[in-house]
Parts: sequence; structure tokens; C-alpha cells
Amino acid sequence: MVDASFLQRIREVAAPAGSTFEVRSPIDGHVVADVPDCGAAEARLALDRAANAFEGWKRTTAYERAAILKKWHGLIQSNEPVLAELMTFEMGKPVTESIGEVRYGASFVEWYAEEAKRIAGETIESQFSHKRLHAIKQPSGVVYAITPWNFPIATVTRKIAPALAAGCVVIVKPAEQTPLSALALSKLWREAGGAPDVFQVVTALDPKPLSGVLLDDLRVRVLTFTGSIQVGVHLYERSAHTMKRLALELGGHAPFLVFEDAALDAAIREVMACKFRNGGQTCVCTNRIYVQESIAPAFTERLTAAVAALKVGNPLDPTVQIGPMVDQAGLAKVVEHVDDAVKLGAKVSTGGRALSGLYYQPTVLTGIRPEMKLMQEETFGPVAPVLTFKTQEEALRLANGSPFGLAAYLWTADLRRAYQVSEALEFGIVGVNDGIPSTAQAPFGGVKMSGIGREGGHWGIDEFLDIKYISMGLG
Ligand code: ADP
Repeated sequence: MVDASFLQRIREVAAPAGSTFEVRSPIDGHVVADVPDCGAAEARLALDRAANAFEGWKRTTAYERAAILKKWHGLIQSNEPVLAELMTFEMGKPVTESIGEVRYGASFVEWYAEEAKRIAGETIESQFSHKRLHAIKQPSGVVYAITPWNFPIATVTRKIAPALAAGCVVIVKPAEQTPLSALALSKLWREAGGAPDVFQVVTALDPKPLSGVLLDDLRVRVLTFTGSIQVGVHLYERSAHTMKRLALELGGHAPFLVFEDAALDAAIREVMACKFRNGGQTCVCTNRIYVQESIAPAFTERLTAAVAALKVGNPLDPTVQIGPMVDQAGLAKVVEHVDDAVKLGAKVSTGGRALSGLYYQPTVLTGIRPEMKLMQEETFGPVAPVLTFKTQEEALRLANGSPFGLAAYLWTADLRRAYQVSEALEFGIVGVNDGIPSTAQAPFGGVKMSGIGREGGHWGIDEFLDIKYISMGLG
């Protein structure tokens, strides 16, 4: 069970509501905690509080904001074991990966504590001697952040650390599966000296009533969302009426191109890390492994052996590599995709079946055809489809032939090819001989249907800053 006193502490910071809902662990279905089920009334209250808090927070200096962010970073670090365990209980991530996520999530807080001090405007030359022209950057206002369950800490910090550093105030609505990690971050924010109304968490089983209030209010100036394309499109349309700025991190369908000059062991190591972390439940996990024909048999054989050796089980066990799927719907999608592929002629090299509870066998499939469901949308599970290509041109055509454009990967020892292919891939993120490229100081985001805007690096803070032009007449 999760540390009871920690649970009690984090529940105190939830926006109260008339009713509650249960957070159930995918490990065995037990109830981890009850949290408030917020609706429209709670959203209005949170928004009034946020708008009021913005008047104070926007006037703080970058140095004052940085000091609180740094303390917050220290508290996330010192609470690493309990945060990691909570995350594993909430959504089933293997605990060693949960520790990695706490560190990765904390790194955004540290980086933006530093970046707050580097927000800078410009002076612009005028053609008139009696005028001085300036462009300054100011915080946009209230930010509404909607986050998914698959990275319950890192998707929150990646959005709100830059927003807070910029001088914005935030309302976070975490996924219904993982409200506790977001609440824990909010608790630590307060312990770091952050004002409660500057970073609020509203939890809800149904996101629509409370989101409706926030989406339709002019005071919310930025919407930042990570989740499905379907919901992203809806939020984009709805936000038009109040002309909000949007950052949308939507789904991916990442190709991984393995060229015949690749060192197989290293390529397989990175494909494994890319595909199977979080049980395949990330938007940057590869969904299509394209291998050059001459090495395909050897690659598939070694990949199959590595996948068959993965340890599936209770994610609290630090030796386990694959935990449960997050919920019944998640498991059902994996089953549906594999069954559909097999029906249409795919061959199972290893795995291919659901285990008890929410567990699924790590799987390798060959004989993949474009019309299979797993080639159209993210499977979000431990399933590795292996396909082949003949030439670099064909590999690029296959990789780019998708409405998605988040992450893509390639493995090659040829420098010229590395440049040619990485520049020609129509994706926001490209890993060359690197299966896990994401890091706090680099831009994260997609093109085409994978979204708009960037998180991370100096790009990530610009999403929360408005540019104001000031012309100063001296005449
Ligand atoms: P996933 O398939 O990963 O669960 P979703 O897009 O359904 O992706 O969910 C991601 C986040 O978006 C969650 O916090 C969820 O509650 C929220 N969400 C889902 N539907 C809506 C909606 N209509 N309005 C606002 N938020 C939503």
C-alpha cells in the first residue's frame, strides 16, 4: 500500500467537491484512494482564484519565481521513492521506470527555474530619432493544462514549470486514472513556498463539465494538452471562440528505420528501450520497425529472443520490466490490434496473448500489411511489428506515409545517411542511433496530426509569454 500519511497529505490539496471517485490500481484493482470529483462549480471557483492570484504572481521577479521552483525541485528529488511508488500504484509503471520519470519530471523544474531569469525582450532601431522601440515579453495569464496518465509527473512538470517560470498561474486537470501524482506535485509546490492558487489541481472523473467552463472563459489564455488526437481536435475547435493560445501534444506512430550497416546488438538495445518502456504506452514508442531486407532475418531472430526474455509481473518488483496495461480499455485495444493483425496474416514470433488481469505478453509480429489496425493508429502496448524495406528512398516513403509526425528513429553507421534521412523525415523529433532522445533542454513536439507547439527548452517557455510592442515617443 502507498504510505498512508503521504496520501493524507496530498489529499489535502485537492480542490474539494461534493462527491468523490476511486483511483484503482491496475496491478490488482485495489482502491488506492478517493479524490474529489470536480465539476463546473469547482472549475469556476478555481478560475476566480487563479485570476486573482495572477495579479500577484505576474508582478514577482524572475528571481523570486526561480527560488520557489528550485525549492520545489529539491522536494521532488527528496521525495523520489514515495512519488515513484505512488505512480506505480496508480498506473502500473515498473518502479525502476517510475524513478526515472520522477528524475526526468524534476529536470524540467530545475531547467525552468534557471530559464526564468533568461526571459528577455528586444530593442529595435527606429527610422525616427525621436522614437525608441521595444518588444517585451509578459506572462499570458491563466493556463489550463490537461494531462494524460502515461507520464503522470513528467507531463505535468513539462507543461507547468515553464508556465510558472514565465509568471503564469496554472490549473491542472490530470487524467482520471492518475490524479494522485499531480496532487503530490501540488502539495510539494506548497511546501516549497508556492502560493496555493498559483498552481491548482482539479480532479474529475468526467473531464467535460469542468473543462467546458475553463475552455469558454476568456480569462484562460493558454490551453496546453497532451492526449489523443480526437480530444485535441475538439479542444482546438472549442478554444477558437476565446482565441486561446494552444500547445497540443497528440498521438504518434513512430517509425524506427534500421539500415543494413547497423550494429545489430546496439540497434536492438535501443529498439527495445524505445518500444517497451512503460509497456509500450508512450506516444514516442516505436509502432513500426522497418528493417533493411538483408538483415531482417537476423534482426527479427535476435529481437524475438530479447522480447521473449522480458520479465512481466508486479511493477513494484524492481526486476520487472513489463507491468500491467493501465486499464481494461487499454488492454482491449492491444488485444484488438494483435487479433486483427493475425486475422489478416501477421505471424507471431513471440507473445500474442493476454495474461491474467491487465497483463499482456510482450509480442513481436511479422508479415505486417498496411491495412492492419496497428498500422493505422497507436497500439499503446508491448507489441513490436517488424516490416522490411529495400532502399533508403523506400524507407523514407514508408516512414513519412502517415498522418502522424511526432517521433521517428533511425539506426545507421553511415554519417551521410544519418543526415539525409534525419532531415527528410517529416517528424518533430528524430533519434539517430538514440531510442530515447527526450530531455528538458530540447524541444519536444510533433508536426502534422501530432500537434502544435513545443515543450522543453527555451521554446517551451515562449508558449506562455505574450510579446508586447512599446513605442516610446520622445518628441
Ligand atoms: P487517452 O486515450 O490517452 O486517455 P485522452 O485524450 O482521452 O487520451 O485523455 C487525455 C486527457 O484528456 C485526460 O486528462 C482526459 O481526462 C482528458 N479529456 C478527455 N476528453 C476530454 C474532453 N472532452 N475535454 C477535456 N478533457 C478531456
